[in-house]
Amino acid sequence: MSNTIPYKIYLSEEEIPENYYNVRADMPIKPAPLLNPGTLQPLTAEEMEPIFCKELVQQELNNTDRLIHIPKAIRDFYKMYRPSPLVRAYCLEDRLGTPAHIYYKFEGNNTSGSHKLNSAIAQAYYAKQQGLKGVTTETGAGQWGTALSMACSYFGLDLKVFMVKVSYEQKIYRREVMRTYGASVTPSPSDTTEIGRKILEEFPGTNGSLGCAISEAVEVATKTEGYRYVLGSVLNQVLLHQSIIGQEVKTALDKYGVKPDLIIGCCGGGSNFGGLIAPFMGEKLRGEADYDFLGVEPASCPSFTRGKYVYDFCDTGEVTPLAKMYTLGNGFIPSPNHAGGLRYHGMSSILSELYDEGFMRVRTAEQSEVFEAAEEFARCEGILPAPESSHAIRAAIDEAVKCRETGQAKNIVFGLTGTGYFDMTAYQKFNDGEMTDEIPTDEDIAKGLATVPQFPGNEI
Ligand SMILES: *Cc1c(COP(=O)(O)O)cnc(C)c1O
Repeated sequence: MSNTIPYKIYLSEEEIPENYYNVRADMPIKPAPLLNPGTLQPLTAEEMEPIFCKELVQQELNNTDRLIHIPKAIRDFYKMYRPSPLVRAYCLEDRLGTPAHIYYKFEGNNTSGSHKLNSAIAQAYYAKQQGLKGVTTETGAGQWGTALSMACSYFGLDLKVFMVKVSYEQKIYRREVMRTYGASVTPSPSDTTEIGRKILEEFPGTNGSLGCAISEAVEVATKTEGYRYVLGSVLNQVLLHQSIIGQEVKTALDKYGVKPDLIIGCCGGGSNFGGLIAPFMGEKLRGEADYDFLGVEPASCPSFTRGKYVYDFCDTGEVTPLAKMYTLGNGFIPSPNHAGGLRYHGMSSILSELYDEGFMRVRTAEQSEVFEAAEEFARCEGILPAPESSHAIRAAIDEAVKCRETGQAKNIVFGLTGTGYFDMTAYQKFNDGEMTDEIPTDEDIAKGLATVPQFPGNEI
């Protein structure tokens, strides 16, 4: 059977999922709710609606409906670039001399170059449906901002992006892609917001940070008539939208009677990995099948493996609700030498709960071994992978090599979340032999964790 598997398993348009799959419905213990930092009580829909779109608030709070219908307009948009291919990595298998069968789900074949468009288009749709004028967001490296710019231009929504100042100045191509799609892009911190002016006064000449950009975006959303704030990862709603990745993988593998043994994905805020594993995790939670799930995070920002499972702010400015998650502390800042992405201090509450209960495992990877894997993959599979995605490639290669040693013909699936064409500065560093691995010391970790808010039941 296996020798009939094509290099690329394409599905038809009709096979694009009709529903998002909500893994929370199958979790016996639900992820912890967001808390109001003032009252420490679970955030109500009414409290969330001034910040987030109404329908997205409902999705955020929905722990019970297993399937949530994908509106026709979103599904029609998906048809432009979905179903995305599931590729059997024959060339990589040959190169590694492994008996394992390796598959990757490639999400880089759309204009944003990553899986982020899957959620951006849904969030823009619900904002438009609500009759909003526009949305605000932050972006660091720019993948999320790019995806959202495209989505907003498609539905005729205004978009204000706060881009971390150092990225705004260095990642000019990403910035110009966003502006081409019609977004207004402001370097953060800026003098256009109260919090931005305050930060500029306190830290003149600062390069900015994601935490600061979030604070500015939230301020503008809540103070501008007809605007809401949207986020590209971490939240339950984003994992929900990304479940189309896993559903497509499952449909494609079922067609050929292939059952994956091991499913691997990189973890920043957890949205691509959460979406990739969702339908398989559902089967595991319902006791119908067993799978080995492996998340990969950078050794320089090890939220799962060295963080604590507690309530923390989602941003450094401490203006957001509190989320219970594996966190390094909202004040944790990964080393500036870290070029491999996945720099977020926290993690999806859904994945955090699943990890805490032992339903998935996590490993770290250092950035030079990540770029080595990226190079090996690029040279035989032909795709120049994003540094983020290359964390998953590293783990897939390592697991396939283990199979070579044990003679096991495992079916390994990993998420190839995007392409790396805007990350050539990082590749240049690697090619020049100037890439270093900075692993936080126990002291660095303790310093970050000290910024977690302390209240009864939330001690570090
Ligand atoms: C944003 C991004 C990630 C990490 O985000 P998650 O929410 O953890 O999926 C991974 N890969 C690419 C290409 C990205 O743009």
